[in-house]
Amino acid sequence: MEYVAGIDSGSTQAKGVILDEHGSLVGQAILNMERNMSTAAEEVFHLALADAQRRPEEIAFTVATGYGRYRVTFGDLQVTEISCHARGALAEFPATHTVLDIGGQDTKAIRIGDAGEVTDFAMNDKCAAGTGRFLGAASFALELPLSELGSLAMQATAPVKITTTCTVFAESEIIGHLAKGHRPEDVLMGMHHAIATRCASLVRRVGLASEVTFTGGVSRNVAMVTLLQEVLGTPLNVSARAQFMGALGAGLYALDQVRAGRRSAHSQEQEVVL
Ligand code: ADP
Repeated sequence: MEYVAGIDSGSTQAKGVILDEHGSLVGQAILNMERNMSTAAEEVFHLALADAQRRPEEIAFTVATGYGRYRVTFGDLQVTEISCHARGALAEFPATHTVLDIGGQDTKAIRIGDAGEVTDFAMNDKCAAGTGRFLGAASFALELPLSELGSLAMQATAPVKITTTCTVFAESEIIGHLAKGHRPEDVLMGMHHAIATRCASLVRRVGLASEVTFTGGVSRNVAMVTLLQEVLGTPLNVSARAQFMGALGAGLYALDQVRAGRRSAHSQEQEVVL
């Protein structure tokens, strides 16, 4: 049995998957990007290997994607996040025609044609207001972990309208609302609403076509899923592995290479040594 690896070196978290030769996911790992990007990629690769109970020399090909894909020193090929998220989303939800990927620093809307090809995409500009970073500002101001923001926001009864469109000013706006006596859940709901509105307009730029699949770390946030469904007026596919969609897509591109007869230069080097 041969295996392949997909590494998604994101701006905030590194994700890694190991697939077997049938394309089944046999190992996965995620790591905060607190260290050097190349080291984080290597660590996440070894963690995913350990999860799959495989050895590095069993990996026939590795594809790297994400913001830091060229820093994955052991990668055999680099593929864009757009292609990898589309591929991963299609693998889990074959009728996907629109993908919304909200990550730590950027947001992408991807349109997919009937043959599974990417036909258009739109990205947030330099502004991070419609990305996970906007939630990072809320997490900092409220001193709450990111993983708790969504469920707290869902308890809102009188959501506050957030007017700032800039991440830099979001924190002081939140603190201002709290000082005026607004409840944290109401302020948080306002934050989520501001992000959902921005992301929905990005989706409309590429054209909303059913089915819509939501990928990236922010899809783990229940309030974002709920609000986006409301704003877009359509249900969203959210995989339990939504944050791994880019890495999964990368793994599937690696499998294409193996099926075309190509093998990693690294694995060949290792074979010679052995
Ligand atoms: P990138 O590829 O840019 O590193 P990801 O797609 O991995 O981004 O998403 C990272 C973002 O996902 C974080 O910045 C955070 O906002 C969000 N996130 C990660 N884990 C969770 C969680 N458990 N609950 C809610 N949001 C989360």
